[in-house]
Amino acid sequence: MPLELIVISLMRTDKWINVLMLNTPDEDFGRLQSRRIDVSSDGIRWIERDYEQFTPLGKFFEINTNPEAGITVDKETSNATALKLSLVRINDAALDQQTVDVGIKELQLLLSGTCTLHCTNCYNELVAARCFSSIRPMPIQTMEPLKYFCPKNRVPTAVDEGELYYALNYIVISPQILGKRLVQCGGRIHCGRCLHLVGESLGEKVAVQLYVDTLWVGSAGQDGMPEGRLEKFFGPLTVSQLMLHLLQDAVPISDESTRLFLKTVRPDGQLHYMLLLVDTKPLHLLRSKLSLIEDLNLGDYDADISLISHSDSSSESITANSSDSDSDDSGPSVKRRRRPHRSGDSKPVHEIKVRGYRGCRINYHMFSTDEELAANTKLIEQWRKEGTPMVRISYGMMMDLLRELNVNELLVETLERIAPDEKTGRVSYIIYEPDEDT
Ligand SMILES: [Zn+2]
Repeated sequence: MPLELIVISLMRTDKWINVLMLNTPDEDFGRLQSRRIDVSSDGIRWIERDYEQFTPLGKFFEINTNPEAGITVDKETSNATALKLSLVRINDAALDQQTVDVGIKELQLLLSGTCTLHCTNCYNELVAARCFSSIRPMPIQTMEPLKYFCPKNRVPTAVDEGELYYALNYIVISPQILGKRLVQCGGRIHCGRCLHLVGESLGEKVAVQLYVDTLWVGSAGQDGMPEGRLEKFFGPLTVSQLMLHLLQDAVPISDESTRLFLKTVRPDGQLHYMLLLVDTKPLHLLRSKLSLIEDLNLGDYDADISLISHSDSSSESITANSSDSDSDDSGPSVKRRRRPHRSGDSKPVHEIKVRGYRGCRINYHMFSTDEELAANTKLIEQWRKEGTPMVRISYGMMMDLLRELNVNELLVETLERIAPDEKTGRVSYIIYEPDEDT
């Protein structure tokens, strides 16, 4: 059956690529036997009995086809083939040119008119009806609010009563406008009725930071302000944008990695921690569209399939054939042989286009029950002792991030051929997709 999807990942500093090819499992034994994957210096061919699908990669890099150094195939199932190919050269300019650039976008808070702020848990009023005259993003997004508003050895910057600053999951307002139904304990601010933690003080009479995910916006005036969780008044945020914003708070621990310690509280009060160790080396991904089979138009080759006759005698051929008489049962069921010169042996060739994406590779731990949290206190304590600040995000954000990591984890496991016993934590990617694709 035809190739359905091809994904290639590379770290720009490394001289090799991971390739994953997915296809529909094939029941036809004859057809399966005739299938070959052909790696040449300028691309990868998926060869079936009657046609070929060629992914040209020559403009991005030159693949090393030396059988000693070049190709490793160590994972193959009926619907997935993973290869590791070493490279002779990378053309950085061409790679950058074909890559979607996703920049960080400023957050938006669409709050206007007169409103009240309440605890989401018990609707206790925390801030009485008022109209904020100035609603702005935090002046320096990468700086902790305490350090910005209450810097050491400098005069604090007090927030005016009409001002509201916001960031990913907090707002900063003047302590003067807080209602009486709050309890302050140390620097922490709790709802005075249900005692839920809703924020922290950034200096007496200077500023308070309240967590967005603990706040409910009430409509106080006749100006049509809708009610709802404060989260709803932020513009939509894709997982790519969420990750780009979170990375601003990450703490580097070496030249190669940076840490993020995320915390959230589920609406029923359950604490979740997510510990992310992010590779700072830029990850690059080349990906074909999904369902290449739609383009193949089998049986109607004239439609959009170009005929390319190739006679590259230096290419390496890999046959996937487990029943081969001389195959070694202990090794992977893939054989390699020199392919004879085959000029004149032309089949319809469908060319596969790939698009470039940037992303990051992440090793992560997710602790979402009391048992998991208790079993991993050592690791959690270690991260905190080593100075990784906890970043509180909303439950919705945490779930979006986790969903994306879970989906990509399956892909990465096959793509990078990760053996289960090699793993400490889970390994996944976040791929930066432009908004229009999500
Ligand atoms: Zn409350």
